[in-house]
Amino acid sequence: MQGICLLGATGSIGQSTLDIIEQHPEKFKLVCASAHSSVAKMADICRRFQPSRVVMGSLSARDELAALCPDLPISFEWGDEALEDIAADAQVDQVMAAIMGFAGLKPTLSGIRAKKRILLANKESLVTAGQLFMDEVARHDVLLLPIDSEHNAIFQSLPQHAQGAHKKHVSKLLLTASGGPFRSWSLDEMRKATPEQACKHPNWSMGQKISIDSASLMNKGLELIEACWLFGVTPADVDVVVHPESIIHSMVSYLDGSVIAQMGNPDMKIPIAYGMTWPNRIETSVPPLDLVSIASLNFEAPDLARFPNLKLAADAWYAGGTAMATLNAANEVAVAAFLERKIGFLDIATINGAVLNQLESCPVTSLDVVFEADRMARQVTTNIIDKKD
Ligand code: NDP
Ligand code: MG
Repeated sequence: MQGICLLGATGSIGQSTLDIIEQHPEKFKLVCASAHSSVAKMADICRRFQPSRVVMGSLSARDELAALCPDLPISFEWGDEALEDIAADAQVDQVMAAIMGFAGLKPTLSGIRAKKRILLANKESLVTAGQLFMDEVARHDVLLLPIDSEHNAIFQSLPQHAQGAHKKHVSKLLLTASGGPFRSWSLDEMRKATPEQACKHPNWSMGQKISIDSASLMNKGLELIEACWLFGVTPADVDVVVHPESIIHSMVSYLDGSVIAQMGNPDMKIPIAYGMTWPNRIETSVPPLDLVSIASLNFEAPDLARFPNLKLAADAWYAGGTAMATLNAANEVAVAAFLERKIGFLDIATINGAVLNQLESCPVTSLDVVFEADRMARQVTTNIIDKKD
């Protein structure tokens, strides 16, 4: 039996993880769970799964939740320290890092330091802390399994048996992208795009922030950086390929001309179940892939003129140091402003570029440096947005 700590239980990845736990009660037990402010959703999770400990983002949310579940033997907690504490709980074997954004960094690091199996959905934590994150993984000899579907696909397509030796046989990582809802929109149409249109992903059902990131291709930019840290490569070793059907989740191209791909219906339960059971596999509720009804798979190059975020991410990688934390923070603030209708869709990438240009990158010598870069970038981005009003 594997004890699970589910960080971000009320989100989209949280829901898919709960589905797997519910389908395999003999294998998994939800031991700890967290949410920020979704009290009603968390009350439902508490009744169905009865975890030992639950952490909310504020005292008021904790109290509201406790009042909704008076008879359950659960420790109701709140705040950042409690969040770090559940990721290191003695009953926990695996930590699913599924909080949205930079807020996921500290609890994920806590799980790493406590030597738990880390299921990494929260790409922002790896993008912002990069080398420091990977050093902690190595120092504590932790199993880090990528849950992001593309990275999970690359992980599955690399030869597991060859260990480090495989690297010299690989020529490229091929990171697939659906292209998002605006793949074929003109710049003029994109300028007027609403949050509702941007959130309507053609293939995946996801949280709001990652849906906007998918529409602006910032998600692919973050994933490019994520792939570089996870697989020890640089952006020059990764080709982004737009594949609108989202059936191939990514590929590895080898020196001899072979390309190995991982395919499946676009449902996050597949990479989540794989991460939870690796090196084994278990059944999920995802229907088998029906290639005949899909009939054709298409591929095209990304359009960097309409989607400059992808290039900004590569620039941030090559700038190194805090540049990636700066870009991520600018983007988190810009996406929130777009959702509040304070800025237009195309402003997101323009603002990201301006902030990245304005703030100089420093070497990441400690976690404090990452937090300071994040704070500075949020402040500069907020100022730019306020001036636009
Ligand atoms: P959602 O927005 O659906 O869920 C986010 C979760 O994080 C919720 O439980 C939310 O709680 C919690 N949360 C939000 N803000 C904070 C905060 N400041 N502190 C603590 N908890 C917080 O996101 P997704 O599930 O879509 O995505 C989660 C992560 O997984 C992201 O990093 C995303 O990039 C990554 N990912 C997601 C994929 C997907 O298909 N959805 C695919 C690949 C990666 P509350 O409900 O109370 O607000
Ligand atoms: Mg992805």
